[in-house]
Amino acid sequence: MAQQGFKLRILFVDDDAGLRETSALILKTFGHEVRTAEDGFQALVELRSVLPDLIVSDLRMPGMSGFELLSIVRQRFPHIPVIAISGEFFGTGITAPLADAFLLKGQYKPPDLASKIEELIGLSPLRPHLPKPHKAPVWIPINGKDYVVLTCPDCLRSFSEPRSESQGILEANCPACMTKVRYILDAISDSHH
Ligand SMILES: [Zn+2]
Repeated sequence: MAQQGFKLRILFVDDDAGLRETSALILKTFGHEVRTAEDGFQALVELRSVLPDLIVSDLRMPGMSGFELLSIVRQRFPHIPVIAISGEFFGTGITAPLADAFLLKGQYKPPDLASKIEELIGLSPLRPHLPKPHKAPVWIPINGKDYVVLTCPDCLRSFSEPRSESQGILEANCPACMTKVRYILDAISDSHH
């Protein structure tokens, strides 16, 4: 029963080329316009040219991870609904505000993704009534080096900062637009290696 869905501009972000192409193809059969990116950096380039109606993003990617990408999206484009796809389950904690919905990698079928998309878009007229987005700090993975790469949520440019040994919320000034960027270092990713 082909339902006449909404035609949406979707940005699909995943480092797996096969998954990217298949998902884009399937979402197109649902009538959507799909652009793809292979990591957070490429996604930001896409966001600078065309703003999508919805973003679907993998969380674990080399380069800029989905955590980092989505924390930037949340600050800069809080009105864009986001679906995070992950190999692990993130129901609670710091990742929860990063996305409107979560799907487990390999556990969902393309129609599940399509209906989740329509569900979120159906809710979107309510979004302006949601509480103002908290200025959550940007999530930065530790890369094992003595510096970290930050992305300014205002101008979307990336810059590096010496890695701080202190815990909690840190601050740096964007060299391009002088916006104060608040960030947290992701100590968890160190223990994965
Ligand atoms: Zn900036």
